[in-house]
Amino acid sequence: MELDRRMLCGLFQDLAVTVLCDEPLARHTTWRIGGSADAMVIVETVEQAQSVLAAARRAAIPVFVLGRGSNLLVRDGGIRGLVIKLGEGLSEVSRDGDRVTALAGKGMVSTANIAIQNGLSGLEFATGIPGSVGGAVTMNAGAHGSEIKDALLAATVLTADGELLAVPAADMGFAYRHSVVREREWTVLSATFALHPGDRDEMRERVYAWRRRRQATQPLSLPNCGSVFRNPPGDYAARLVEAAGLKGVRIGNAAISELHANFIVNLGGARAVDVLQLMERAAAEVWERFGVRLIPEVRLVGEDEARG
Ligand SMILES: Cc1cc2nc3c(=O)[nH]c(=O)nc-3n(C[C@H](O)[C@H](O)[C@H](O)COP(=O)(O)OP(=O)(O)OC[C@H]3O[C@@H](n4cnc5c(N)ncnc54)[C@H](O)[C@@H]3O)c2cc1C
Repeated sequence: MELDRRMLCGLFQDLAVTVLCDEPLARHTTWRIGGSADAMVIVETVEQAQSVLAAARRAAIPVFVLGRGSNLLVRDGGIRGLVIKLGEGLSEVSRDGDRVTALAGKGMVSTANIAIQNGLSGLEFATGIPGSVGGAVTMNAGAHGSEIKDALLAATVLTADGELLAVPAADMGFAYRHSVVREREWTVLSATFALHPGDRDEMRERVYAWRRRRQATQPLSLPNCGSVFRNPPGDYAARLVEAAGLKGVRIGNAAISELHANFIVNLGGARAVDVLQLMERAAAEVWERFGVRLIPEVRLVGEDEARG
């Protein structure tokens, strides 16, 4: 296994990218949880992304595209194959009139703040979403009644065959926290947002008010992954988990937050299996008491740890 991993990492060594072998993914997720990736490469240019994906394809190595790990539960056994991440080189933001284009490695928060600084409105809702632009597009991230699909004009993606494609927003298959990015095996490289002129002070005030509210209602001082479950139609997952009496319930070093019942926090050294058990318990009790099925919003990836 060790040799296989080294051979796998070696495949990418000559492609002028950062290659991390057996890289703990807990270092790359906001939950600070997750086993190791066999190989992680950080690409800084479109050409590097193309050659890495081509090399992986030739060798039939599975590929997982990682953003900022703010919507992921990576299981304790880690991810087999290649994890690709966009580096600083793929994080620029530019403006053309009312349009803002951000490369997909850029943070969604800073992209939204740059738009505000430029007096452009339409991305304020994203100032509290700690993912990358690529992750926000993939997830159709949203808050305060708006979603990425409301602001996106088009995205540039790399197909699994290495082809660069400009995809209009209408062809992204957007739905609640969903796009077709994953099923088509695309890597999002950039996003162009169509914005409109806005009053900077008014936008900033709105954003500060939202921030104060989040700081008061979410456990942001402990590693977390935002909302664990989707809100069921017409209700709130947090309300249901709280009504089931589960606030504060702890398994291992993970706990359902006392502050917000749809957050699970890492109290220090939590494992994915602790979080999974808490999620199963919350879903089972909410189903039993209220007949509502809770569906995870966080993406579960990777493998369970081998028992031995
Ligand atoms: C404190 C906190 C608050 C949050 N609040 C919100 C909120 O208000 N609204 C909301 O919608 N979400 C929220 N989230 C969840 C999360 O920030 C979003 O889902 C975010 O868009 C995920 O982006 P990411 O870069 O971290 O993606 P990851 O978590 O790294 O990945 C998520 C998915 O996107 C894919 N992906 C990532 N980048 C790319 C790419 N370039 N190309 C192709 N696929 C890619 C991954 O393969 C994975 O399937 C919150 C999270 C936290 C921790």
